[in-house]
Amino acid sequence: MARNNVVDLMQDVASGAKSIADGLRITFHSLFFRGKVTDQYPHRDPSLNYKPGPGYRGMLGLVANPETGQLNCTACGQCQKVCPDRCILVEGEGKGKERKPVRFTIDMSKCMYCGLCTEVCPFDAITMTPKYSDVVEHVEELIWEIDRLRAEAEGMEHISKVGEVEKEGHHTNS
Ligand code: SF4
Ligand code: SF4
Repeated sequence: MARNNVVDLMQDVASGAKSIADGLRITFHSLFFRGKVTDQYPHRDPSLNYKPGPGYRGMLGLVANPETGQLNCTACGQCQKVCPDRCILVEGEGKGKERKPVRFTIDMSKCMYCGLCTEVCPFDAITMTPKYSDVVEHVEELIWEIDRLRAEAEGMEHISKVGEVEKEGHHTNS
């Protein structure tokens, strides 16, 4: 019986040593022979940049009419009212068709990318862009004013209404 215990013990020790050796072999192989498998975000190789698929609901922008250069927004305030996070502030001037925003601010640090503001807008004036990241040092830098919002949607049409994306069978990721 004592001999069996000694044999079992030796087998356990041998099995444990083999497991450790296997683990170390993989570790040293990864250390010296495998290439780098992490990206130093955001300083990574541009060729590795993630490209969102069609209809991706990223950061927001204000759409301008390509012919007139004027923002589509009429400062009706519906997006501000519908936003659950209260991160939109719109101030306008003028009446009827002449009404335009004089201030349009979105606090992107509060936005949860629900898309309700783009859904409710009657003028296709606010859209979700493919931009998925904006690294900043100070959170205040995520409060985007009208010029920044216009720049973010430069050249875009209002393409990312949630309903349209679902109808077209697009996915928000690829
Ligand atoms: S996407 Fe949603 S949370 Fe973000 S601004 Fe629009 S309504 Fe508000
Ligand atoms: S973006 Fe659309 S919903 Fe918001 S204030 Fe302008 S026109 Fe109205």
